[in-house]
Amino acid sequence: MKCLCGYQFLRDDMTGKKDEVQSFAVIDEAVYQDFLKAEIKANETKAVEDEAMVSQYVGTIDKCPECGVIRIAEPEGESPVFYTRQGDAE
Ligand SMILES: [Zn+2]
Repeated sequence: MKCLCGYQFLRDDMTGKKDEVQSFAVIDEAVYQDFLKAEIKANETKAVEDEAMVSQYVGTIDKCPECGVIRIAEPEGESPVFYTRQGDAE
């Protein structure tokens, strides 16, 4: 997935600049307890299917190192949404 400025985020391009992208996990508060239970189970079993269960609760927020745009990918969201900082938009 490319940023609005053309920067290729690492998650989609393994030749990207790993250390420059700030990335954060996003978990819906409505299912946070379910996420925690799934995470504990996955840590105990180390099973791939349990780890996959955890990943369905987790989205990401990435900050582009080139232009500062924020990309939000909601858990199981269809496509990410991009936000600019107030004052950056033309
Ligand atoms: Zn960018």
